[in-house]
Amino acid sequence: MSTPPVCNYEGSDYQTSFWDKGGREYEDRTESIALKRLLPTPALAGGARESGRLLLELGAGAGRNTPRYLGFDRIVLLDYSRTQLEQAQQRLGASDKYIYVAADAYRLPFIGGLFDAATMIRTLHHMADAPKALGQVKKVLGTGGVFILEFANKLNLKAIFRYLLGRQQWSPFTLEPVEFAKLNFDFHPKAVRNWLKDLGFAIEKTLTLSHFRVGFLKRIVPTSILVFLDSLFQWTGAWWQLTPSVFVKAKSVERDGIPLHRQDNILSYFKCPDCGHSPLIDKTDCLECSNCGKKWGVKDGIYDFREPIKK
Ligand SMILES: [Zn+2]
Repeated sequence: MSTPPVCNYEGSDYQTSFWDKGGREYEDRTESIALKRLLPTPALAGGARESGRLLLELGAGAGRNTPRYLGFDRIVLLDYSRTQLEQAQQRLGASDKYIYVAADAYRLPFIGGLFDAATMIRTLHHMADAPKALGQVKKVLGTGGVFILEFANKLNLKAIFRYLLGRQQWSPFTLEPVEFAKLNFDFHPKAVRNWLKDLGFAIEKTLTLSHFRVGFLKRIVPTSILVFLDSLFQWTGAWWQLTPSVFVKAKSVERDGIPLHRQDNILSYFKCPDCGHSPLIDKTDCLECSNCGKKWGVKDGIYDFREPIKK
C-alpha cells in the first residue's frame, strides 16, 4: 500500500528549540485559550454528555498540549516519531491514562468509531495529502465525535501583502495548498472547510490565532497583553480568517457515521494497519495479526505500527 511521504520528527529537539527556547510563549498561551474554548465541556451530572472518555491526539509530539485535554478518561498520543513519544512519556509519566502509539496518520491502526474526540494541532501542516489524513480521522471517530483541527492558513495578511507587492510567487487566494518548505504546507480556509464537509463533518466553531505573530511586536509588547488581545480577536474567526493559524471545531455527523463502540481493554482498540483485521493477538512484545501474519512491536510502553517486525 502506498501512502504519501511523512514528515518525521525522529530525534528532533523540536520541543526544546521551538517551544521552550524559541520565544513561542505567546503562541503556546493563545493555543491554550483556544483549546479551552473548543474542547467539549466535561459532562455535568445528568447533563448532555458531550465530553468523552477517549481522545485521540494526532501528532502529539512531546505532549505539550496533552495536559490541556481535561475531562477525558484516556488519551491516545499518536506520533510518527518514537523519540517524540519518549519525551511525552517523560513529561506525562507512566499511567493507564495515556497510550503511546507510533503510527502513520494515513494508516491509523484503530477500529472504526473508537474515539469520542480527536485533536490535530500543528500537524496537518505536514500532510502532503490532507484530505486522506482527515478521512482517517473521520473513520475512527464515533458519530457525534468532536474533532478539533488546527491548520496553517495561506490566506494570512503577511502572505497577502507580500503577494500584492510582488514579493511572493504563489497566490494566497487560490484553494490549493502551498508547500513553502519541504513537507510544510499552508492551506486555504475554504479548502479545509470543503474537505471537512465532504467527509461528513459539521463545523461548529472557527477561531483565528496568532494575530500578533510579528517579530517586533513580540519584542516590545509584553506577552500577557498580546495574549489578552489575541484572545479577544480569536472570535472574529467566525467571520474571516486572515491569521497564520486557524482552529476549527467540527462534529462527525450521522451520514456514513460509525456508531461509537468500544470495549474497555486497550487491545480491542487496535486493528492491523495493513489489512484492517481486528482484534490483534497480544504476544507481549508484539501484537500479531491473525489474518496477514504481520507483527507490530510493543516496546517500553509504545505501540509501534509504522513497520511490521521482520522475522
Ligand atoms: Zn493484518
